[in-house]
Amino acid sequence: MWHLIRRIVPNLRRKPFIGSSNSDPTRTRLYYTSVVAPRQSGASTGLYGFDHLKSPNGFQRFVDEAIERSTELVSYISAMPESSEIIRAMDEISDTVCSVVDSAELCRNTHPDREFVEEANKASMRINEYLHVSTKEETISSKYKKKSLKVDEDSFNLGAAMYLNTNHTLYDAVRKAEQENHLLTEEARRAAHYLRVDFERGGIHLSADKLDRVNQLNIEISQLCREFNENIIIDPGSVDIFPSSRMPKSVHHLLKPIYRSTPGILRETVLPRDTMKEKGFRITTDPQNLSSVLQHVSDDEVRKMAYIQGNSVPVANLGILDKLIATRHELAQIMGYRSYAEFTMKPNMASSPAVVMSFLHEIGKMVRPRADEEFRKIRDFKREKSGRESGDLEPWDEAYYTSLMKSSTYNLDSSVVASYFPLPQCIEGLKVMVESLFGARFHSIPLAPGESWHEDVLKLSLHHPEEGDLGYLYLDLYSRKGKYPGFAHFAIKGGRRISETEYQLPVVALVCNFSGSRNSSTARLNHWELETLFHEFGHALHSLLSRTDYQHFSGTRVVLDLAETPSNLFEYFAWDYRVLKTFARHYSTGEIIPEKLVKSMQGARKMFAATELQRQIFYALIDQTLFGEQPATPRDTSSIVADLKRQYTSWNHVEGTHWQTRFNHLLNYGAGYYSYLYAKCFAATIWQKLCQEDPLSLTTGTALRTILLQHGGAREPASLLNGLVGEGILRHCNGGIVPDITSLCEEMKLGENI
Ligand SMILES: [Zn+2]
Repeated sequence: MWHLIRRIVPNLRRKPFIGSSNSDPTRTRLYYTSVVAPRQSGASTGLYGFDHLKSPNGFQRFVDEAIERSTELVSYISAMPESSEIIRAMDEISDTVCSVVDSAELCRNTHPDREFVEEANKASMRINEYLHVSTKEETISSKYKKKSLKVDEDSFNLGAAMYLNTNHTLYDAVRKAEQENHLLTEEARRAAHYLRVDFERGGIHLSADKLDRVNQLNIEISQLCREFNENIIIDPGSVDIFPSSRMPKSVHHLLKPIYRSTPGILRETVLPRDTMKEKGFRITTDPQNLSSVLQHVSDDEVRKMAYIQGNSVPVANLGILDKLIATRHELAQIMGYRSYAEFTMKPNMASSPAVVMSFLHEIGKMVRPRADEEFRKIRDFKREKSGRESGDLEPWDEAYYTSLMKSSTYNLDSSVVASYFPLPQCIEGLKVMVESLFGARFHSIPLAPGESWHEDVLKLSLHHPEEGDLGYLYLDLYSRKGKYPGFAHFAIKGGRRISETEYQLPVVALVCNFSGSRNSSTARLNHWELETLFHEFGHALHSLLSRTDYQHFSGTRVVLDLAETPSNLFEYFAWDYRVLKTFARHYSTGEIIPEKLVKSMQGARKMFAATELQRQIFYALIDQTLFGEQPATPRDTSSIVADLKRQYTSWNHVEGTHWQTRFNHLLNYGAGYYSYLYAKCFAATIWQKLCQEDPLSLTTGTALRTILLQHGGAREPASLLNGLVGEGILRHCNGGIVPDITSLCEEMKLGENI
């Protein structure tokens, strides 16, 4: 089902995919939006403060109780109480279900104990069944049995009427509430409206046959998405390189030493065993390794082999992607839309694919001349370095040469930069921001026995001197085996008003993958990691400062094309000297980061900014095209991607490669990837008009908090944005909304003579 928890499930947000050529897509940012009442220290509890979660099988009880409570609420709603009560009870159902979904999601991604992870998996499957199982129970039941996923039989015996997705009692109640809107507050009216729309997006208004098909398609879609992700992990690809001297020392730790017999020498020569074998290295071309290899290896051939291999796996995902496109298309058609893109974008600010395409073409045109110019500069640099006057520039050259150009122009050494960002100082930076911007403080608070999932986890309360605690934040910062490898914001509980005097405080977790551990003093971040930390922190603030009446609208539970705006805005803080000087200190001398160094970092950032922006536009175009209107004869995705690359970027396409098979943003963001570009434009305008003059002032923070962040999804996004900076942040166009690109163009100096 997509309604009651619609704003949660798709909240699996990540950082834009940077591409295997110059960064590491596995280090994606993902955020997830779910509280935990503050505990008396010493009193034992379960995971995240939920008493049920004291042991792995507590998840079963957690689901049982969530279903029981929801069932009670459904029967309460069926008596058709006052409209405001209907909406309040609907929101409680959503909150109850979300607690399970969100905690299971965090657990699956971070818990070191397999048993907890397995139980969390089962819990999330069961709760999903409860939400959007097919009305033909046997279909799904046998499907899961076949996969031996051991779903509790009882969960199939609730009866179709109980599945929330297709529950006509709830739908009718919501419609009644929407019609009697004079009884409701503005936020409740909005909730009634969106609940009704969300029910309909789940197909409740369709005939039984069609609804069955919709449910079946939704299940197939989640299965295909799961397989796509699994394949990426199972099949990272590898290439063997001989001799070992072709690989620079700086990447040896990422490689596996391998040996081969050296034919000719061996048999005749009596040598110790080791010297009879030639040593080489195996590069596993998972995105992280690939990115390091492409950046650090000077041997063109090695980079080429690694690039081609890494961008040609997993082959199995070509078929999965075709099926996903066909399944989503069929779903959209049953719902009465011409394409999945049209279906999925309807509730967003953009509102239609045509609006998004016009935006992408507009910004693509602005960026092209500069991206071409950057391409020529890199090509000339390569020619100069290699002494070949006519050498072509290939995609496997980009990361290597741009990084050389940056360091030679700005004399930047990433280890020098990192020496100013010891992790504890970076956390200090987050504290400085909340204090200066919002007059609030983070306090470390003890975790109750059972509440934590790993000894590295810290818990902070966000405390305001007049308002008291505003919310709670778990920090799980260090990389470890079996943990989700990216950077993510998970909400564990959304904020909501419980009564006139009580407010359920939001609880979130930031999950990062820095090297080191809580007891080590050596963790230092490179600047990309700091920027990522600030990005995720933007999501966390959106949740923590939210004060909506309903958790349905809490914090990050907003339309997709607004969701990345706060996080993109907070990235700016990681680049501003006035902010950095408040916390960035050298790990041994304590010296504040020199302004000159920050200037160099900013300069290096701008050097290939157009190339990066063009890449994001290209990704968004792929996403729009794959899930857009389908031609009568389906085209294979690789040729679509190749054509778009030739048409819209300055770079060659390498025949035979199909990097889209690792582009997992196509799953959660299907037809929504453009949202990153929307966020980039909105954030640029907000930064210039509101923050740039004095980024750490209480005035700036108060505006951000009271006009944007605290409203979550409870108000129209366009009015929030206009309210914050006045006119000039967005434009209405063909029935939808596009961001104004002036600020971003100004920042990147696009449209000026080169
Ligand atoms: Zn994000």
